[in-house]
Amino acid sequence: MDTTVSTTATDQTTAPQSQGLSRRSFIAGAAGAAVIGAGLGSTVFDIFHPTEAFADENSPVELRYSYCDMCNHMPKCGIVCHVKEEKIVRVESRTGYPSSPLCAKGIASLQELYDPNRILTPLKRINEKGSGDPQFEPITWDEAYATIAEKFNAVKAEHGADAVFFFCGDPKEPRGAMQRVATLFGSSSYGTESSVCAAASWLCANLVFGQQSVGADPGEDSTCSLIWSLNAAWSQPNRFNGLMSAKERGVKFVVVDPRITPVVSGLADVHLQLRPGSDGALAAGFINQIIVNEYYDKEFVENWTVGFEELKAYVAEYTPEKVEEITWVPADKLIEAVRIMAKSGPGTLVTSSKGGCHQTNVGNYQRAVFMIPALLGFLDVKGGMALGPGLPFDYAASTRGFQLEDVYEAQGYQERRHDLKDFPVWARYYKMIQTVKLPEYVAEGKIRAGVLLGVNSMMWPDTPRYQEAIKNMEFTVALDYYMRPWTHDFVDMLLPAAMCYERSAALAVFGRKIFLREPAVAPLGEAREDWRIILEIGSALGYEEQCFGGNVEAALAEVLRTTGLEVTIDDLKAHPDGFEIPGNPPEERKYASGKLRPDGQPGFNTPSGKVELVSQVLTDLGFEGLPIYEEPIHSPLSEDAAQYPLILNTGSRVPYYTHSKLRDLPWLNQFMPDPIVRLNPADATARGLTDGDKVRIFNQQGEIEMFAEVTNIVMPGVVDIFHGWHQADVNLLTTRDFDPITGFPPFACGLCQIEKA
Ligand code: SF4
Repeated sequence: MDTTVSTTATDQTTAPQSQGLSRRSFIAGAAGAAVIGAGLGSTVFDIFHPTEAFADENSPVELRYSYCDMCNHMPKCGIVCHVKEEKIVRVESRTGYPSSPLCAKGIASLQELYDPNRILTPLKRINEKGSGDPQFEPITWDEAYATIAEKFNAVKAEHGADAVFFFCGDPKEPRGAMQRVATLFGSSSYGTESSVCAAASWLCANLVFGQQSVGADPGEDSTCSLIWSLNAAWSQPNRFNGLMSAKERGVKFVVVDPRITPVVSGLADVHLQLRPGSDGALAAGFINQIIVNEYYDKEFVENWTVGFEELKAYVAEYTPEKVEEITWVPADKLIEAVRIMAKSGPGTLVTSSKGGCHQTNVGNYQRAVFMIPALLGFLDVKGGMALGPGLPFDYAASTRGFQLEDVYEAQGYQERRHDLKDFPVWARYYKMIQTVKLPEYVAEGKIRAGVLLGVNSMMWPDTPRYQEAIKNMEFTVALDYYMRPWTHDFVDMLLPAAMCYERSAALAVFGRKIFLREPAVAPLGEAREDWRIILEIGSALGYEEQCFGGNVEAALAEVLRTTGLEVTIDDLKAHPDGFEIPGNPPEERKYASGKLRPDGQPGFNTPSGKVELVSQVLTDLGFEGLPIYEEPIHSPLSEDAAQYPLILNTGSRVPYYTHSKLRDLPWLNQFMPDPIVRLNPADATARGLTDGDKVRIFNQQGEIEMFAEVTNIVMPGVVDIFHGWHQADVNLLTTRDFDPITGFPPFACGLCQIEKA
């Protein structure tokens, strides 16, 4: 029997025949679910119910709790699985769980779980890397672990532990385990997909007010909210419900977005439709108007900020008229937006990874944006943006103790990290390397081997550079659900990861409530849980005791132990609806009572103890401390605009896919079967293009082909491209011009030209 596995089947979009559902029934149901949203009874979900496919319909049904991981949120939407004969036959929203209801992707998760193209056994490569036709053959888990240990230990012996890269992409949940194993092994080369996702926002919030943040949704007492480039209706449907409820309560919304998204049409009292990449000028104009009109909170500014006079002098030139010239936002709209926020407050700021981070000026402009709620006096007041401390979990529900950060600090990992000189600000805040310079680190021999969980070469700008880097590493092992040739054609080994319904995962933490997340069914084939695989790799590398021999529950117990909260796994098991940690009543202005700083002193957790309008960290590291606006490197004002006159905006979301994922699920693929580029009717007419035309999109970097969608969603002069199509990878057109503060690439503001293919 030929057991060789080829990639030829991975692009199939044929539904598993056993699903027993017609396309039409799913379209009708998904549309209904999207429109109706929360509170659906079982009627709608019955439409998706593939019971007959997997089990005798007379078999008894058992209900088990699980969660959805079809998008990248932490934590995920709660799901009730209907299980018959140890198969999940139906999923529905879990009532009472803080994150719900399910969107179309959540409903389609069953199709992913039972996708016949999943890899279900460990695989090792048997032909040359980068051949274009990767061939793998099955191996045992024992052989996989023995090979990994041998290769990693050989690299460590010859080049040091930092030459082995420990990467956690999607899902984010196993980050704690990956970081722990990296540290045990002695490697400072731990990295995540946050390098190009949302971490630039967190970093900027840290620089301004000493706390990781992407802002906060409006609460019960909020009267206004400034949404800076978030289209939650498509990226986080469950979150959009909350925003719509706020709208119904009378909350005023100012929305900054280059596109007319459902968030704009559904929420915005004022829409600031800016030129992509000009956010820094708009933020400076916002601050100018706050200061000129004396809307700022004088007591707060005087007592709790540093650098106000310098900031005031800097933004003086950013009058609404000048801002209009730069950003294309009409001056009167900016004036009205600032007035709404100032007169309605207190309110909140909401930012995102998409518009928020993907610019060459993000390290400055995002700081300016975070200064807006501070100047308006919205920080840590009723109706404003609450600040920490929360429960002692990090973003991925792990802890400093579990990740062995004390070992990292005591044993000098920080001084050894490869990104220290390239991105010193990033390195100061994160114990994960900025991964965008992976090609350089591999070329210089600094990184030679790696374990890559959920890695995707298309996540970085100029994809071929990263494919080449992975290929040139001496040994790499990937963990994934599927074989994805655009990445796995360059790895040596591929391990089958269990899907969300099949695995224990990091705890879910909502406010002060903690949920245990156990598997609903056993993994198919030989697939194993991510946490288990990572911990078993750690065990094979010689750290069996510290890796709990691969026992996930024991590892999660250690996470809990290191919180210091005195809560155990048994406590969580006894409370399937969440274990509530008692807490003090919410407190305002915690900066005044010393609750925001680890030393207990009043103030913010910044070097000055104040909100830093001029950053001390940045000036100490040789950067400009003020949030200075700079044009994108490739912009309508740069020389190459004559040749490539359209602004290339990519990285936004669609309701049916998450990044490059889910393209092969028929229930979702039917909504967007082909790569599309959205452009304004004016730009289409000027090029003789009509809706549905096949077009070439090209610039100095490369070219791709897509289908044109002519739409007013996009403003004239801009094209919008959804990313993650391996057959039309937009990151063949994006450039490696990295923001010096955060290291982030300019996905939101490149240049290109379009013509009929
Ligand atoms: S928003 Fe949709 S895809 Fe994301 S976790 Fe919820 S159901 Fe899943």
